[in-house]
This record gives sequence, C-alpha cells and structure tokens, in this order.
Amino acid sequence: YPKPLFGPEEWSLANWLAKRYLSTPVQALKMMLPPAASSSDRLFSPPHRRLVAAVSFGDVDPNFSCRAPKQYQALKTALSIAEPMTRQELAARAEVSPSTLDSLVGKGYLKWIAAEGIDEQFAVLGPKTDPPELTSEQAVAMQAIEESLSTPQAETFLLRGVTGSGKTELYIRAIQRVLADGGGAILLVPEISLTPQMIRMVGERLGTDELVVLHSSLTARQRNRGWKRLYDGDARVVLGARSAVFAPCKNVSLIIIDEEHETSYKQDQVPRYHAREVALKRAQQQGATVVMGSATPSVESYYWGEQNHYRRLYLPLRVNQRPLPRIQLIDMREERKQGNRSIFSRRLFAAVRERLDANEQVVLFLNHRGYSAFLICADCGLTLRCPDCNVTYTYHWKNTLRCHYCDRKMRPPDRCPSCDGVELYRRGLGTQKVEAAVYRAFPGARVARMDTDSVRGRLSRESIYASFSRGEIDVLVGTQMIAKGWDVPGVTLVGVIDADTALHFPDFRSAERTFQMVTQVAGRAGRGPIKGEVLAQTRHPEHPALSYAAEDDLPTFYQQELKEREALGYPPFRHLIRIIIRGDPEPLVRVWADDLMHRLRLLGDDIAFLGPAPAPLTRLRGQFRWHLYMKTPVLAKTLEGINEALSTVSVGAQDPQIAIDVDPIQML
Ligand code: ADP
Ligand code: ZN
Repeated sequence: YPKPLFGPEEWSLANWLAKRYLSTPVQALKMMLPPAASSSDRLFSPPHRRLVAAVSFGDVDPNFSCRAPKQYQALKTALSIAEPMTRQELAARAEVSPSTLDSLVGKGYLKWIAAEGIDEQFAVLGPKTDPPELTSEQAVAMQAIEESLSTPQAETFLLRGVTGSGKTELYIRAIQRVLADGGGAILLVPEISLTPQMIRMVGERLGTDELVVLHSSLTARQRNRGWKRLYDGDARVVLGARSAVFAPCKNVSLIIIDEEHETSYKQDQVPRYHAREVALKRAQQQGATVVMGSATPSVESYYWGEQNHYRRLYLPLRVNQRPLPRIQLIDMREERKQGNRSIFSRRLFAAVRERLDANEQVVLFLNHRGYSAFLICADCGLTLRCPDCNVTYTYHWKNTLRCHYCDRKMRPPDRCPSCDGVELYRRGLGTQKVEAAVYRAFPGARVARMDTDSVRGRLSRESIYASFSRGEIDVLVGTQMIAKGWDVPGVTLVGVIDADTALHFPDFRSAERTFQMVTQVAGRAGRGPIKGEVLAQTRHPEHPALSYAAEDDLPTFYQQELKEREALGYPPFRHLIRIIIRGDPEPLVRVWADDLMHRLRLLGDDIAFLGPAPAPLTRLRGQFRWHLYMKTPVLAKTLEGINEALSTVSVGAQDPQIAIDVDPIQML
C-alpha cells in the first residue's frame, strides 16, 4: 500500500466508536475501510485522473536540478513520456515518492487531467449553475456559519428551516467556502432523499471535480472509486448517506447533516452508531463545524439547542414568498357519527375530486403498515397506553394487552375508559385495503403507488417521480418515501389518510414521529404557484402532536414533549440502553433476560430498569426475542459496567444471543 489505511485520527475515532456503542474495535474499524477492502487490487484500481507535464523543457529554471534534484528527475520523466500516467505509475517510473509529484503539481510543473471513468451518476448534470442571491434570513445564517468555519474550534449549528426555506442553498455555499479555504466537507443526507435530483442540485453547483457521491445503489466498483478519490485527496467533498460520515475525506472542516431527525442515521447493525454522534466526535477531533438542518429537528437536538450546546439558526419562511400550506385536521370520529365508514372523509373526498377536475395533482400519504395490533375505541379513537411507559399496549391474541417496554399486562376492558363506548376493535394492519379503496374511489384518475413494495430499485422510483413531475399521474399514493425531498410544483393537495398510525407505535417517540411526519408531508404541498392545501384525517385532533402541527407551533409541542420525557426519564434527560436477548425456546430466553437484569442491577441505583419484556417483534426468524431497557444518567460508566458484567457471561452457540443497542431509535 502506498500509505497506511488508518492514521491516528481513524484509530482514535474507531476506539471511541467501539466504546460508545459497545462493539469490538475491529467492528468499529471496518466502518472506515473502503467498500471492497477485501480485495486490495480493487481498492487501488486506476484512479480517474492522470498527470502530465504542464511546461516544456525550456520553461524549467536551470537551477531547479540542483535545488530539487528529485523533483527535477520526476519532471524530466514526465516530459519524456507520451502517455499521461497515474500518480503511482509516474512515481514508480521516475523512482521518486508520490509526494514529490504533489510538489511539482503545486509549483505548476505538472497538472492533472481527467481520464476515463468520470462517475456515470454525474451524466445527468447540466452546466454549472449560478447561485441565487440569499434572502436576508439566509444571509444571517450564512454569516454565522462562515464565522465558525474561520475559527479552528469545533462548533455545532442546529439549522431549523421550514421546507423550502433554502437550507440546501446554505449547505452548498458553506461547502464552497470550505473548498476555497483548502478544506474538505461531508454532506450527509438520508438514503431516501439521495435522489438524482439531489445529486444534480449539488453537482451542478459544486462541479464534479471535487465531489464524490456514496450510496447503497452504487456498484462496489463505483463506491470504491469514490472512496479512493477521497482517500487520495483527489476529491474533497462527499455527499452520502449515513456511513459517509466515515469517508476518508481530508481535512474535514465541515460536516452537514440534512434532515437531522431522520431515523435512518442510526445503524441497526453492529456497530449501532448514530451518524450525528459520529459527526460531532469527528468534528471535535478536527475542530470542524457541524451544521444539522431540519424543518422538524429531533426533540433531543432541539433540547441541546435550547441548552446552547448547539447554536440555533432559524429560517422561518419559504423563499419566493410562497406561503406554507396550513394543515387542517379532519375528525374521523365525527365522520363515523354521521354514518360515513369509508376511509375518506367527505371533505377529503370532495377536495380530491375538485383538484382532479382542475387538472391539479394530489398526493395521498399512508404511513408504513403497522407491525403490531392494538386496541382502539371506534367512537372516540382512544388507544390504551401503559401508564408507566407511555407507550401503546399491544394486543395479543389471548385477549391480553401487553406493554412492550415493561411487560405490564391487562385484560382489555369491555367499555372504553374514556367515552364508555362499547366497540373496541383491533387495528394496525391492512394498508393494502386502504390503497385499494383509493383506486376504487377515483375511477377515472391516473393513480400510482409508491412504497417499498411497489418500488424495486431506484429506477422505478425515478420513473414514477419523472412521470409525476411531467403531470402523467394525477394521484400518487405513497408511504414515507414521498414524504421528503420531492419538489413537484403541480401538487396542490396533500391528504394524510390516517395521521394516527405512528401515534400508536409502542415507542416513546411516537408523538414526535407523528408531528414530524405530518409537518414533512405538508411541506410537499404548494411548491408551485398555486396555494397548497393539506388535509389530515385523524381520530385525535386534540392530540398535541397533531394540534400543534396544525397550528405550526413546533416550540410549544416540543416543550410539552420534553416535559413528559423528563418526568419519565427518557432521552435527552437520560440515555437509553436497550438489551435484546434472542434464542429458543422462549422460557430459556426469559431466564437469560432475568439473569442478565439481576447482574446489571448491581451497576448502581441511579440506573432505572424496564422489563424484561417480549420485544414488539416477539418472534423473528424462528427465535424468540425479549428485551430490557436501562435508563442511565451516566453513560460511559454504565457502558463500562455492562461490558464487565457481560464479560463474565459465556455464550455458547446454542445459548441465547445478547445484543446491545445504545441510544436505540427503532424499538422493534
Ligand atoms: P430546503 O432545503 O430548505 O427545503 P432548498 O434549499 O431546496 O430548501 O430551496 C428550495 C428552493 O428554493 C430550491 O429550488 C432553491 O433553488 C430555491 N432557493 C433557495 N434559496 C434561494 C434564494 N435565496 N433565492 C431564490 N431561490 C432560492
Ligand atoms: Zn409499561
């Protein structure tokens, strides 16, 4: 290898990662390896740039041969060969070190030229575009970021900006500034929004010389080439999903995390890291600036902004004075009282018809299908929740309700405790049914569906997006996939079929998710000249997650949410550690879970425990899954304790397996 794969920074980051998320150092180091490191010849496949002489013999200072004999030797070699060579090839031919060539490039004696193999994904790019003039709000935020970039201290910004307020524009300018100062930058986006539109937007402004895009639909070879360009210092900016936070970008002075609240920033395999935490750590090591942007930040980040751990920036308005659509809640309990049992309220149905008649476009949003059943009152929409954990009870077929955090159980009541209604029914399944109803309700309309089932690979998603943009689809029905990143001016109506789906997940973040989902979906409407309308159907119009979303009052909702989290000891006030025990048969798993908890209880009185309880996904691939939660105010100490406690447990091949998730995001 021309140089070692890991320097002191990588080692120290890997060490931290292993400790912070309880993985082995090797598992942590793997994150920093190139995508196909198993075969070294691939890693060092020919780079896409080659070196040629930029001068002729006559231009060379005669004294050069004495002052820098090695460089002179290399330059002579470059001048004597016909074919441009890679850095490695030329260094070998001239018998000098590759860094000697860098010096020659610096002095203008050698120059890089592009060879074959510029990334295919950049094929879509048009010519470089000019920047718009910043709005006054953008300018204020930009100035703060630039100030931070010019100081060597690490600093973190939380940029809250409504959808369409021009956050991406700020990201691009900040990156340009970093490039001008000779630094490197990482731009993280959720995998789902890493679309050709995004790549085009960034690529057309920054150009492709310095840009590498990394995401999961690239071939290993493409990813490898990108990795290598960063590693060699050929490119200094990486745009990528979660794992790009580990990219071998040189002199990182800026890390941007777009849609900071997205759950996909947490990896659900070992090491179970959160890209935000890694970014903050990496920034701290390098004195870099972190910019986290979102229209709906995570409640945790919002809190740290309030505590002035992060500097807050705010873009309250859309650019071009486009108004933000108001979200209107439709009470489905009322509909039922009026005898309407269809999935469409009369209001939403009429609104869709109206838009179709006007040749405008409609997005109908469905949440992911539920993974567990719960009990809901048909009249008032009440769902039963565990009083200790504030999560929805899951309905089990033996007619019990069970809390999947603490394992509290109860028999379903005969009557609704809130409205005394007698019809308590099971919910949480059947989005296909909903989709079918959409097709039936609007027979003449051109309807398309977009979710993970209907979309295989990026091509199909892109083709749906393209035909939707061209106006060939009237109604697009979709899940999370259409909630973000889409910019279709023809969309004037967004309907949320059931805003309550996320509300009932057995997850303490269910209210936060609901608020974010509704707000993000609403951001899809009214991007063009016609004012947008957002209708959200719910049985809980009074729930803070929905009522404050409708009032566009994020601070009040977040304050209220924080109060509840504080009372129950949830993040950001405590760290949560989830321990999953899986195996077969179930009684054995249970015994292990109990045993583990007894050991962990010894770690201290300041740690609170929940469980053990069956995990919401109780059976997975033939194994039974139980979990328990620890809430701790002192993370590092607790993690050390867990490590010690587990080191005395010897796990054989037939025994239950133990997995630990520090700061879990998905609780399945
Ligand atoms: P966000 O990332 O906050 O959703 P974008 O940065 O994507 O917003 O901006 C939304 C749209 O407004 C984009 O089409 C962008 O090109 C445009 N835009 C951003 N800033 C400005 C500006 N200062 N003047 C005019 N148009 C702008
Ligand atoms: Zn409970």
